[in-house]
Amino acid sequence: MRYAELHEQSIHDPKAFWGEQAKAIDWHTPFTQVHDGSRSPFETWFAGGELNLCHNAVDRHAATRPDQPALIWHSTEVNQERTYTYAQLLDEVQAMAATYQALGVTKGDRVLIYMPMVPEALFAMLAAVRLGAIHSVVFGGFASVSLATRIEDASPKLIVSADAGSRGGKAMAYKPLLDKAIELSAHKPAHVLIVNRGLVAPEMTAGRDVDYAEQRQAQWGKSVPCEWVASEHPSYILYTSGTTGKPKGVQRDTGGYAVALAASMKHIYLGAAGDTMFTTSDVGWVVGHSYIVYAPLIAGMATVVYEGLPIRPDAGIWWQLVEQHRVNIMFSAPTAMRILKKEGAEAIQQHKLDSLRALFVAGEPLDETTSAWLQQTLGIPIVDNYWQTESGWPILGTANGVERRTPALGSAGVPMVGYQVRLIDDQSGEVLQGADQKGVVMIEAPLPPGFMQTVWRDDARFLKTYWQELGGKHYYSTFDWGIRNAAGDHFILGRTDDVINVAGHRFGTREIEASIATHAAVAESAVVGVADQLKGQIAVAFVTLKDAGQASDALRGEVAKVVEQQLGAVARPSQIHFVGGLPKTRSGKVLRRALQAVAEQRDPGDLSTIEDPSTLTAIQGLFKPAS
Ligand code: ATP
Ligand code: MG
Repeated sequence: MRYAELHEQSIHDPKAFWGEQAKAIDWHTPFTQVHDGSRSPFETWFAGGELNLCHNAVDRHAATRPDQPALIWHSTEVNQERTYTYAQLLDEVQAMAATYQALGVTKGDRVLIYMPMVPEALFAMLAAVRLGAIHSVVFGGFASVSLATRIEDASPKLIVSADAGSRGGKAMAYKPLLDKAIELSAHKPAHVLIVNRGLVAPEMTAGRDVDYAEQRQAQWGKSVPCEWVASEHPSYILYTSGTTGKPKGVQRDTGGYAVALAASMKHIYLGAAGDTMFTTSDVGWVVGHSYIVYAPLIAGMATVVYEGLPIRPDAGIWWQLVEQHRVNIMFSAPTAMRILKKEGAEAIQQHKLDSLRALFVAGEPLDETTSAWLQQTLGIPIVDNYWQTESGWPILGTANGVERRTPALGSAGVPMVGYQVRLIDDQSGEVLQGADQKGVVMIEAPLPPGFMQTVWRDDARFLKTYWQELGGKHYYSTFDWGIRNAAGDHFILGRTDDVINVAGHRFGTREIEASIATHAAVAESAVVGVADQLKGQIAVAFVTLKDAGQASDALRGEVAKVVEQQLGAVARPSQIHFVGGLPKTRSGKVLRRALQAVAEQRDPGDLSTIEDPSTLTAIQGLFKPAS
């Protein structure tokens, strides 16, 4: 079957299409209606159906493939490795779930999880959904203030955390940050459950804090049945990473999410029971939720969970894991791949990678240069896919399971099943029909299964933030710019808040960055629009070089020339700064908002998500007003 036909069916006969996909999931009570759109844009998928996410991810496989690895944990931080079979995973999840019950957690309660990349983080997530509790994982790299905001918003009965994480071999205490966050938050959890790894002795608050090792021993062997929940019962809340503004609590359902993940595994990632998947994200991000935890386990695969840096002890570590565990599918981020590219192909190629079928990347644009380098280095399909915390699974991608296809280099692919992706002209509000026209990427209602249900406890914010009515139809905005070529491939040009308007000419930051990246000396760049009295805005580029020693005025001229030749003189950056590093979020996204503020000599605002503050401090030095 052609993919276009399948996509067409998913839109015009969603009941038949999603009804078929739903067969991949075990339903305790069969659903009576595939889609109920009576409250659109609040959609209900698989109404009447009852299921449990943990049952689908763990129990059913523990029954049929008990001795197969389910979770393979490898830590280069504490030099440990542990493998859990499906039977062992079920035991661990039940011990955690029994502990939750002992601490009073019941259906609908929130459990906030603030954990490093250890197996217990996954046990904690699965134990929550097992009881019908709603988890909210907060990335372990966040500090007290960001954590406090999320504790207050999610109001958890229980917080699960650890004594410490570890980064670059250095223990990072979590418990003091958590204690501080609870102090700052108006909401107080009844209990805090601590997984003590023996890295930094945690200070325990009597009556509130509980040691997990003791609990695990006390609860071991107890059977905790799955709580069957309605398809629309929330499974989790996940806060967006916060590249812009105040984080939103993205609320996900249970049934739609399970079906969407199973369908994505079948059509996009091509993983099946018995395969091994290695997703190099963190459980604190959406990619981690969907492709470290739920999708591989729902499919009966083994998931590799890695704690550590991509280049420690050296740039070969991920590829060593691929070789050792015979990984079939890998999923990473462009930023990590650019780091590896800087280190050279040899670290990758010295490993036996014949088990690997494809490398998927998402999270930010994959520039053509890096894409081509990866393709050449690995010799397997490099598949970009575009999505958001809100969507839970790809909006754009390549469904190689349906029809083999290679989208144009630099393109994130075509709309995935269930998605009616539209490009809308931001001035006229018209749906752009032709090829090569730039518009805002929007999704026509109804949103497919798996997509966010609403903003946690704030339906009004969901409607106000994301939705727009144009010509009698409802559209969800992704807040990204896109363009579609004649073959139907979409290119993401950057966020709508990342547009540069130079003397009336509008450019996506990505267009200029992609152009800069074609210069052989360039490692990475970030372009921002900076207010200018004459032109409205000027483009300012921050560039890291493969070899920092090469920085010179002559090179600056060459880089500017490349942009001028490719995009025209108006796009030529007015300033090019060679810098040692770009300020990024812990999830690897460039903080353009902060760069722009610094270049305009404004306060960069909330920097709680920044990975390495020294990158921004160095750049601030460049813009200090002369005294
Ligand atoms: P916030 O919404 O709080 O500002 P965020 O948008 O950075 O945070 P995410 O949901 O993690 O948080 O990121 C989704 C965004 O990442 C997309 O809207 C898009 O801008 C970008 N993105 C994701 N995948 C791709 C891709 N394959 N190509 C281009 N851009 C991508
Ligand atoms: Mg976003």
